[in-house]
Amino acid sequence: MRDVIVIGAGGCGPVAAKELAAQGLDVLLLDGGPRHADPRKEWSLLESDANHLLTGYLRAGPEDRSKPAWYRELPQNSLLWQVAGVGGTTKHYFGNCPRAYPGVFNDYNGPDRDNYDVGHRFPFGYRSLVPYYEWVEATLPVHTAPMGTKETVYFAGCETLGLPVQKTKTTTEASYRPQENAILPPGGNAGRTTDPAKLVYPLATGCTMCGHCIQGCMQPIDVPRNQTARRSTDNSYVPMALTADVWSAGGKAVTLITDAMVTKIHTGQVDGQLSATGVTWRDNATGDKHREDARVVILAGGAVESPRLWLNSELPNPNDWVGRGFTDHHLDLIFGVFDDYIGNSKGPHSSARCDFPGYGGLQNVGIGPAVQAYAMAFSESGVRGQYTNGRGFRGIWDGPTGRLGAEELKDVLLHGLDRILNVVTLTDDDVLPDNRVTLSAMSADENGPVPKVRMDQRGRSERSVRNREFLAYRAVELLHGAGAEKVYRMDLAPMLLHVHSTMRMGTDEANSVLDANAESRAVKRLFVADNSALPNSLGGPNPTLTSQALATRTAETIFQTYFGGDAWVRSQAPVVSTDQRITRRLAQLDL
Ligand SMILES: Cc1cc2nc3c(=O)[nH]c(=O)nc-3n(C[C@H](O)[C@H](O)[C@H](O)COP(=O)(O)OP(=O)(O)OC[C@H]3O[C@@H](n4cnc5c(N)ncnc54)[C@H](O)[C@@H]3O)c2cc1C
Repeated sequence: MRDVIVIGAGGCGPVAAKELAAQGLDVLLLDGGPRHADPRKEWSLLESDANHLLTGYLRAGPEDRSKPAWYRELPQNSLLWQVAGVGGTTKHYFGNCPRAYPGVFNDYNGPDRDNYDVGHRFPFGYRSLVPYYEWVEATLPVHTAPMGTKETVYFAGCETLGLPVQKTKTTTEASYRPQENAILPPGGNAGRTTDPAKLVYPLATGCTMCGHCIQGCMQPIDVPRNQTARRSTDNSYVPMALTADVWSAGGKAVTLITDAMVTKIHTGQVDGQLSATGVTWRDNATGDKHREDARVVILAGGAVESPRLWLNSELPNPNDWVGRGFTDHHLDLIFGVFDDYIGNSKGPHSSARCDFPGYGGLQNVGIGPAVQAYAMAFSESGVRGQYTNGRGFRGIWDGPTGRLGAEELKDVLLHGLDRILNVVTLTDDDVLPDNRVTLSAMSADENGPVPKVRMDQRGRSERSVRNREFLAYRAVELLHGAGAEKVYRMDLAPMLLHVHSTMRMGTDEANSVLDANAESRAVKRLFVADNSALPNSLGGPNPTLTSQALATRTAETIFQTYFGGDAWVRSQAPVVSTDQRITRRLAQLDL
C-alpha cells in the first residue's frame, strides 16, 4: 500500500507529490498522458505539430499520437484548451503568476467588499495563504518577467489610462505592472543574439526570448531539464519530485507512471467513515488495468477530468455540486494594428498586465501566426461587418465585432504579425451552478463516459458581462493610447484556457464539494489539488500560482492529519527547483 496516490501530473498534482515526497512519504504520481523526457528530440517549433487539438504533441490525449485525443462534448461554440501528460497544461502556459485579489477571500473588509463574487469566497483569509504563495514563488521560482518592445508599447498605453505602477505582490488597487512570471531571467548570451551556437547552456541561461513558449519551452539549447527557462511543472516540480531522495533529508523519490489513465477511485470504510482507499488505472498502450491502494488519494486531473472521474467512479454527490460552478475568466481579445514594429511574436508571450480589482485584469499576449489567425477567427459575434449573431455592444466601443473575413484577416496579417498588439481580458467571472461538467450521453471511450462541458457565452451573470465590458473598454483605450492605427474587438467565443472551480471548496456545505482543507465532504482521505478546487475565479488573476499554493497547503494538511507530521512551510526555507543537486541527480537517473 502506498502512502499517497496523486492523480494527474499537470499544473498542480506534482506540487502536492513533491511536497509529500520531501517529507518521506511513498507517493505514486499517475498521469494519463505522455512524459516527454527529451523535448529537443520529441518537439518542434511548428505550431500545428505542437498545438493541433487532435494530433499535436501538446494535446489532451494518450502518448500514442495515432490514437484519438480525449473526446469532450462541447455543446456550444467554444475551445477547451488543455494538455495531457507530465506538465499538463503548463506545457502551454505563459508562466504568469499573479496572486488572487484579496477581495475574493473571506476575511476581506475593504470598501469594495461587495464588488466580488460575494456568495463564493475562499473559506479562509488571504493572509493565511501568503506563506504558501511565498513558498511556491521561491520554489518555481517566480521573477519579474523578461520584457521587450511589445511590453514597452503596452506600458505606454497604460500610462494614458492614468494608472499607477503596482510595486507589491498583493494587488490592492487598479494599477499596471510587469508580470510576475515563472520564467528564468535571461543570462549570458540569452536575449542578446539569435545565433544558436551562442544560445547553448551555460553560455546562455534562462529565457532566450525565442517567442515559442506555447510550443513547449526547451531553451536554452542543451539545458538540464530543471534549469529550463519556463517553469512549467515538467521543468520545475516534477524534477524535484523525482529527486526528493537527494535534496530533502529523509525525502523519498516519487514513483511516476505515465500513459496511465485512472478510471476509478475506490472507497471503503476507514475509521468508521467512507474514505478513499485506492485507484484503478489503465495502461493506454496495452489496455491492461492495475489496482493500487493508498492511505490518501489526491485528485488533480484538472477542471474537466477531475469531476468526470468523480462521476465515473460513482462517488457520492449529495448536493449535486460535483462539476458545477465552472468559471473561465470570460476572455475577450482586443487588438491594435500599428504602423511600427511591436514584436508580437518575440519574447515571452505575456509580460505585462493591468489589474482592476472588482472587475478583473488585462494582459498583453504575443503569439505566433497560426494562433494569431485562429484567435482572429474565433468569435461569438459572427463575421465582422456582416452579421452579429444578435450580439451588440454600446459604450466607447462603436465598431463591429466578430471574426475577420478572409480578405481582412489577410490584410491584417500581411501588414505584419509583428505590428499587432493583443490585449486579453481576464474577467472576474461568477460561479454559476449551470456552467458545469457532466457526463455526456455520447459514446463512452475506453476510460468511461466522456465529459460534457457547458460553458455558454450567453449563460453568464450580469456581473460577469459587466466586468468584461468594463475591461474591453479599458483595452480599447489602452490601445488607442499606445498609438494603434486601428483597434479590433473579437468578442471571443469561450476560449477555455483558465478553467476552474468545478470541485470548489467553500464555507457553505450547500454549494461546495470540498471543505476548507480541500478534503471532500463526502469521501474522507480524498483531496482535490488542482484548479477545480478553487472556490471562485480569483477575481480575474491567472490561476496556476494560487492553485499551486493551495496544493502546497493541502499537502501540509494531509501530512499533519493523516501521517502525524509537522507543518513545514512556516519553519523551513524552500529549496529552489534549479538547485544543482537536482541537476546532478537527474543526470544519473535513467529517464
Ligand atoms: C495557452 C495557455 C496559456 C496559459 N497561461 C497561463 C498563465 O500564464 N498563467 C496561469 O496561471 N495559467 C495559465 N494557463 C492555465 C494553466 O495552464 C492551468 O491553470 C494549469 O495548467 C492547471 O493545472 P491543473 O493541474 O488544474 O490541470 P492540468 O495542468 O490540465 O493537468 C491535469 C493533468 O491531469 C491528467 N489527468 C487528467 N485526468 C486523469 C486521469 N483520470 N488519470 C490520470 N491523469 C489524468 C492530465 O493528463 C493532465 O496532465 C494557460 C493555459 C493555456 C492553455
